[in-house]
Amino acid sequence: MLDYFLVADRRYARFPALLAHTGLVHAFSTRPADVSARADTNAPRRAEARAQMARDLRLTPESLHHCAQVHQPRIERVRSDQPAAAHAGCDALWTTDRGVGLMVFSADCPLILVHDPRRGAVGVCHSSWRCTIAGMTRLLVDALVREGGCNPPDLVAGIGPSAGPCCYEVKDDVRIAAGALPDADSFFPRVGDRMHFDLWSANAAQLQQAGVPASNIETAGVCTMCGGDAFYSFRREKAGCGHFGLLAALS
Ligand SMILES: [Zn+2]
Repeated sequence: MLDYFLVADRRYARFPALLAHTGLVHAFSTRPADVSARADTNAPRRAEARAQMARDLRLTPESLHHCAQVHQPRIERVRSDQPAAAHAGCDALWTTDRGVGLMVFSADCPLILVHDPRRGAVGVCHSSWRCTIAGMTRLLVDALVREGGCNPPDLVAGIGPSAGPCCYEVKDDVRIAAGALPDADSFFPRVGDRMHFDLWSANAAQLQQAGVPASNIETAGVCTMCGGDAFYSFRREKAGCGHFGLLAALS
């Protein structure tokens, strides 16, 4: 489930279950905002959209860090004394410093937020099918525990809008690549003669395997392909479609 809210005429979405954690600021952008960091002629307009999103969440645009996203499970820690940056070769960011904005982008891939309200830590990741299969979400929690001093039972998490198990058809190459995931069969429901990949369950399972209690995990349950047009969908709109973003910070 998601809670939608407006700042001026700009609509955002957030996880209702995470609102109780007052040390966390987070939101997903919605259409028509296109916030990705692609380098093309529209890059300045999208940079302004990211800056506007930061201001709307009472963060400074100068605090924004984002992942360049290459579908590989590389994770970086961000500190408040680092200047705002694009993190190359990276699909996940985390911090224990307040006021540092972390962003990831998507058009069908789940964006995932992990927060430790006790220790004061937040992480975000882009869990594309490749990242999911590589165990990105679990690795992010592991980084928070190992380097951030977090305790898994304290963590709360949200799994964002993405192509859902209702629509996300994949071929055998994805199923074969996912062979190493625990309980892999359960993430590939058959729909008629087709095979779908349930990215929501696969990422929820990784969070639980890393020690996050199931009751602390909220899944938005919004399919970007069939669940309305608030969020961009590459599969629905094809090349050239925009990207929505998840922005999270410790306040
Ligand atoms: Zn769907």
